[in-house]
Amino acid sequence: MAAPGENMRVDADRLWDSLMQMAQIGPGIAGGNNRQTLTDADAEGRSLFATWCRDAGMTMGVDAMGTMFATRPGTDPDALPVYVGSHLDTQPTGGKYDGVLGVLAGLEVVRTMNDLGLKTRHPVVVTNWANEEGARFAPAMLASGVFAGVHTLDYAYSRRDPEDKTYGDELKRIGWLGEEEVGARKMHAYFEYHIEQGPILEAENKAIGVVTHCQGLWWLEFTLTGREAHTGSTPMALRVNAGLAMSRIVEMVQTVAMGEQPGAVGGVGQVFFSPNSRNVLPGKVVFTVDIRTPDQAKLDRMRATIEAEAARICDDLGVGYAVEAVGHFDPITFDPTLVARVRTAAEKLGLSHMDIISGAGHDACWAAKVAPATMIMCPCVGGLSHNEAEEISKDWASAGCDVLFHAVVETAGIVE
Ligand SMILES: [Zn+2]
Repeated sequence: MAAPGENMRVDADRLWDSLMQMAQIGPGIAGGNNRQTLTDADAEGRSLFATWCRDAGMTMGVDAMGTMFATRPGTDPDALPVYVGSHLDTQPTGGKYDGVLGVLAGLEVVRTMNDLGLKTRHPVVVTNWANEEGARFAPAMLASGVFAGVHTLDYAYSRRDPEDKTYGDELKRIGWLGEEEVGARKMHAYFEYHIEQGPILEAENKAIGVVTHCQGLWWLEFTLTGREAHTGSTPMALRVNAGLAMSRIVEMVQTVAMGEQPGAVGGVGQVFFSPNSRNVLPGKVVFTVDIRTPDQAKLDRMRATIEAEAARICDDLGVGYAVEAVGHFDPITFDPTLVARVRTAAEKLGLSHMDIISGAGHDACWAAKVAPATMIMCPCVGGLSHNEAEEISKDWASAGCDVLFHAVVETAGIVE
């Protein structure tokens, strides 16, 4: 298949203008965005995106999860489309670029193809996955998860927000319940361009992250049972201190993760003490261990070690103990051909690049279950994301979009 000439570039100003226009919808309180999934602001953002897609000559399909698929036709009616996308929904105090960049860069790829009069054998489909963030309706990456067969549609529709509204009802209410069967589409390839959401590219002074893997993850919820007792009058030897067991487990998780370097992380971000009173030893402590690595063997070993060590710590202290896995992804290895194509595109364009692993979950991780998939990342200032202060530069945004353009067009195959 023919590749586009190396002089071809996207329109950096047009991409940036579109990002800034989308950011006007569902503004946050500190310069970012609150455009949570299936809210009125989400509906408004979807409409703007749909208008832009129509103006670019694309036709819109919407599936029963509310995911939007805008198609630029190819020349071969039998060729499966090349998909490119991410998400327009944000965290309640989210940034202007997390997800949005990937969708609008996909649109910019099509606009540039139009400007250049490029014809490709495969269609190109720009995708806005519904509810990537999972802030309003847990879990995250819900629509791409249904698409990939990870969740059922009924499960997704029954998810409830903090006001007890369901995903299914809210999808209908905002008018974006589509008719397409979720997951019926077949993909030739899937590309997702996203800000890094971490500090590595900026620190290494690299323009492009060539994403080779998505980390695997376990969330292990521990419930420790001690004996509620007065902190002043209970002698040390007679305490059954669930809080002490917790603190030893937190320290142990740190040691286990450090023992699997490089490329493994582990920590505790959420703890519930009961009764959580300053002069009562906790009778119950519930907390979640989060461990991640792109290496399946390491992930399995970390989980086994943490569970065995936690059992020993609790036994030593006479604390009761239960553990439940409440979240899990297997590590994802992105398609080597597409990964190489991204790397080659960066080289062809003279952009600095490095291989990188996605520390967060993305729709691409689920898409990879049903199609050859990969991701491209650009730096973000200070690695800050899921924060209204999230920031990138126009040059960073357009460099990654140029790489996306070349990788997508080469995959879609130029017809001379
Ligand atoms: Zn995102």
